[in-house]
Amino acid sequence: MTSLYINEPAIQIMTPTDANPGPTQAVPDLQALPLTQLQGVGPALAEKLANIHVHSVLDLLFHLPLRYQDRTRLTPIAALRHGDEVVIEGQIVGSAIVFGKRRSLLCKMQDASGHTSLRFYHFSAAQKNSLASGQRIRCYGEVRRGQSGYEIYHPEYQILQQNTPAPMEKFLTPVYPSTDGLHQNRIRTMMTQAIELLRKSRALPDYLPANLSRKLGFVSLSAALQYLHNPPAEASLQQLEQGRHPAQIRLAFEELLANYLCLQNLRDQLRRQGAPALTPAGHLTKALLHNLPFALTAAQQRVSREILMDIARPIPMLRLLQGDVGSGKTLVAVLAALQAVEHGFQAALMAPTEILAEQHYLNLDQWLQPLGIETGFLSGRIKGKKRAQILQEIATGSAQMIVGTHALFQEEVSFAKLGLMIIDEQHRFGVHQRLALRQKGTSPALYPHQLIMTATPIPRTLTMSTYADLDCSIIDELPPGRSPVNTVIIQDSRRDEVIARIRQACTEGRQAYWVCTLIEESDVLQCQAAEATFAELSTRFTNLKVGLIHGRMKAAEKTAVMEQFKQGRLHLLVATTVIEVGVDVPNASLMIIENPERLGLAQLHQLRGRVGRGPAASHCMLLYHSPLSEVARQRLAILRDSNDGFYIAEQDLAIRGPGEVLGTRQTGLMAFKIADLRRDSHLQDQVRTWAQTIRREQPRLIAPLIRRWLANAEEYGNV
Ligand code: ADP
Ligand code: MG
Repeated sequence: MTSLYINEPAIQIMTPTDANPGPTQAVPDLQALPLTQLQGVGPALAEKLANIHVHSVLDLLFHLPLRYQDRTRLTPIAALRHGDEVVIEGQIVGSAIVFGKRRSLLCKMQDASGHTSLRFYHFSAAQKNSLASGQRIRCYGEVRRGQSGYEIYHPEYQILQQNTPAPMEKFLTPVYPSTDGLHQNRIRTMMTQAIELLRKSRALPDYLPANLSRKLGFVSLSAALQYLHNPPAEASLQQLEQGRHPAQIRLAFEELLANYLCLQNLRDQLRRQGAPALTPAGHLTKALLHNLPFALTAAQQRVSREILMDIARPIPMLRLLQGDVGSGKTLVAVLAALQAVEHGFQAALMAPTEILAEQHYLNLDQWLQPLGIETGFLSGRIKGKKRAQILQEIATGSAQMIVGTHALFQEEVSFAKLGLMIIDEQHRFGVHQRLALRQKGTSPALYPHQLIMTATPIPRTLTMSTYADLDCSIIDELPPGRSPVNTVIIQDSRRDEVIARIRQACTEGRQAYWVCTLIEESDVLQCQAAEATFAELSTRFTNLKVGLIHGRMKAAEKTAVMEQFKQGRLHLLVATTVIEVGVDVPNASLMIIENPERLGLAQLHQLRGRVGRGPAASHCMLLYHSPLSEVARQRLAILRDSNDGFYIAEQDLAIRGPGEVLGTRQTGLMAFKIADLRRDSHLQDQVRTWAQTIRREQPRLIAPLIRRWLANAEEYGNV
């Protein structure tokens, strides 16, 4: 098991603002305090809360409002505007059931400034009677433009007693993220108790150093939480809702800091391990370069030098290799692998999909066989005798280069002497998987070097918070002879034109891809869609050869189809997104992508990178299904207007958020409680600076900070 935090007992550190509660007063540990300790919280409710990741009283306090309602002041009826959420107060001057499209109860009410209506579609007889003319009423709801002027549908309301004044709310009313059957009022009552505990016991010490808080003008953690659950009437709603209130920034900062410190710890742990010193020897490298029909680009040479210097040291390398689609990352990785092989170590290359792994294997074997190097292949689909054999070859070391899918991570795989692990398209793997590699080292003392390759350039603010500042090499140059892909956006009602276009390209001797992205979430349905499209296109192109490839075909079938396409024996290849990465057929110059609006921009850019690899002018047609949302339109336009992977990734990040870009949304890795990597990216430099200061001057603070914010991080330390 890999634990993401250091197992030191939490220490309590008081800043001058947090008075010492004294030895006699028992201080509850809010983090350990179960919710069932709160009044009115039984096991059923606790379970509901667990669904929204609230397990302890501390979790509850970190469960911040999504937004706020302002019920602190009355709005004169004459000042109502469409869309406002307001409190109004007045007298009911008429109440009747009306029969429009639907039966409803309509109450007219007025104050000194004007009149308006309340409308109820669901109401009881008792309710109708209580809302009688002459009653004074206060209500809260959203103003809509209705049939009779402004109306409020289903307001929350309160009948006022004639002589008793009803006080207004003193604080903004929080609206919390919730789940089915968990009412806001329920959360609010619990929160009131949690805050009471927090206030009374001073149970939440500050772990930020006093000088940090002073310099950055931060209030205490406890004060920030209290403020955000109960902002005073005069607080700026707008600032709060944008997450830019100083109290919010204070919390986001602490969370990012804890996260960064945690990753730094992991990194330190790794660095304390030994790794094989793979000093440059060079005869295999020379032989490979000699056999290649091309020379390395300048960028490949530079990056290759960086990597080779790194793996020559007896400390595990942890390096990110970024380069746009087609920039030649594989070759750079193979040069590093040769270094390992030359020293009698194994190298492994792991890819995110079966087909990419397969392509890599075929490529590598072609390069390495002439050098007398044994390359093995392992994926989940290799079974039985064949599997036993390759496992054996990996275990004895007779397989020197091993290519595979995440099957390489499985426990049964034991390497004889793994010196270098190369991970392609890392953003598909979680941090936890990468960490599992640590168990895959050779003798207990030696850990493999790691090279992580990605075509999705990861903005630095993200590498900081998700990779703890990996060392980074960038290939910023494409091999000569590539042509930019001309991209158009076309509605699927113009399918006939698209088909004519394919026919033309193929009769001129070129090849095309047709990518079905429909129903991305389901592998089975996606394959069915591809099969249907294949059937349709086969009947439409009677004198062209059409092929089909998808993820559920047998490995041997896929290889055969790819081989046919490579050799030009198929004109058109209908595919699912399995061809997204790695497929390399320079003669293919046209790509149709169906329903591109369903995919991320980085993924589309990857797909598109399958064309534009030869001298012919290349085209990509994005065949969307109408109607297209405004955001989708914007995103596709970015792709149409740019061929620059880095630019595209940054735009994608701006529009969709980091979870999606990194592909980690499902794994919850990027699920910060409070911080938002987009909104709070401006904090990162400060976070880093202060992290260094804390590591140097107050390392005692690190463990409790990590424990406070990443207690559940353990979950993803397990593989
Ligand atoms: P990616 O960076 O997208 O993984 P690949 O490593 O798959 O790119 O390389 C794309 C293609 O370019 C491959 O066919 C590879 O053999 C070829 N290639 C790599 N380096 C060069 C080079 N310096 N000159 C010409 N072609 C190259
Ligand atoms: Mg690649």
